[in-house]
Amino acid sequence: MSKPSFNHIFMNLATDLAARSHCVRAHVGAVLTKDTRIISIGYNGPPAGTHNCDEEWPAEGCQRDSKGSCSLALHAEENAILYAAKNGAKIEGSTLYTTLSPCIACARLILSSGIGTVFYKYSYAAYKGLPSDEGVDFLKKFGVEVILLEP
Ligand SMILES: [Zn+2]
Ligand SMILES: [Zn+2]
Repeated sequence: MSKPSFNHIFMNLATDLAARSHCVRAHVGAVLTKDTRIISIGYNGPPAGTHNCDEEWPAEGCQRDSKGSCSLALHAEENAILYAAKNGAKIEGSTLYTTLSPCIACARLILSSGIGTVFYKYSYAAYKGLPSDEGVDFLKKFGVEVILLEP
């Protein structure tokens, strides 16, 4: 019997984490790993201890920003990276698993924090109806390996 690969184990965990999100629209999960060990996790939502969008605004959701995204939430990748940074984990050379490919803002953060490889499951551009995956394009252009892991 073949063993599941770490890629699938970590992407499955990211998928499970996405279900914890209180956001009204997208649920996204992320896992940050180094040498096949987990150094951080995250899912999208406002900073811990502030708001649960689905409970406070169940019908309409929280206020939207100009791009139609939650105005309060950190993205899953941001939460994963910030937790690792806050706790002194070495992010340089790490690998990120995220259920949705990074937006351009997260792509900038991923590149700057030294993450070397990003695996994703669904396209952010397809989800948002955008012509191209600008976050993925940005990362590839500057040497970060970005790989679609088919669901
Ligand atoms: Zn929200
Ligand atoms: Zn993002």
